[in-house]
Amino acid sequence: PFVAAMEVIESVEVDYDQIGGLEEQIQELQEAVELPLIDPERFVRIGIEPPKGVLLYGLPGTGKTLLAKAVAHRTNATFIRVVGSELVQKYIGDGSKLVREIFEMARKKAPSIIFIDELDSIAARRLNETTGADREVQRTLMQLLAEMDGFDKRKNIRIIAATNRPDVLDPAILRPGRFDRLVHVPMPGVEARGKILKIHCDGMTLAGEIDFKKLAKATEGMSGADLKAIATEAGMFAIRKDKELVEMGDFLEAVAKVSVAADTQKMMPG
Ligand code: ATP
Repeated sequence: PFVAAMEVIESVEVDYDQIGGLEEQIQELQEAVELPLIDPERFVRIGIEPPKGVLLYGLPGTGKTLLAKAVAHRTNATFIRVVGSELVQKYIGDGSKLVREIFEMARKKAPSIIFIDELDSIAARRLNETTGADREVQRTLMQLLAEMDGFDKRKNIRIIAATNRPDVLDPAILRPGRFDRLVHVPMPGVEARGKILKIHCDGMTLAGEIDFKKLAKATEGMSGADLKAIATEAGMFAIRKDKELVEMGDFLEAVAKVSVAADTQKMMPG
């Protein structure tokens, strides 16, 4: 059962040119993660310790996983992804064992990037430790901290975590030598939205007159994931109308459809 709990990708295909916007975030990751992996001697010469862990925080669908994958691609690192909530839900009693196995895998397949999604599921502060499940979550977190404290940061393993809820994190996880670099991943602005749409339309057979500027303006408040959905929906509308090219009208219909879906989701509890 442990195999399914982590996703291991030996050769990631995502590169920075598939990410719209987020230029500053990419630069931060290049300095904090890429450079220490590619040229650790530089840090030795200057006499500083590279950060061990980077925490990406921001709303769902803003490209946190995408950023982590692109870094793995750039550094030819194995990408090991685990989801915090899955770690503690499916594997009650084995969360800490799984954490050990993840780091073992990372050492075996180094250079590696360990990506922990939904970090808040295992690292929320003030857990109610009276239930067995919460004690288990606590043990999983302790194991993660022990693994992070234990490994040598000059070795070629880096940890990137992601959360939508940085406010609930236990401060212990943010101490120096742990996730000591925080990078905010914002919702895309108008320019980034245009770029993201173009990225996801690459490879689609478009009619000539697609006005990406207009679409970018019409998608205020939408995430990268929403914009990807718009490209797909536009294609679906074209197929439904039995057309060979996707037209501006299809995109406008898709924007309307995805806006409704996004609003509905915001009204859902949790
Ligand atoms: P979550 O918090 O829900 O895990 P996330 O921030 O990790 O979300 P991703 O999984 O990286 O988001 O993004 C979901 C999908 O949305 C990606 O596969 C990608 O196709 C698209 N996407 C998100 N942001 C961008 C972006 N900046 N540029 C291009 N595509 C994006």
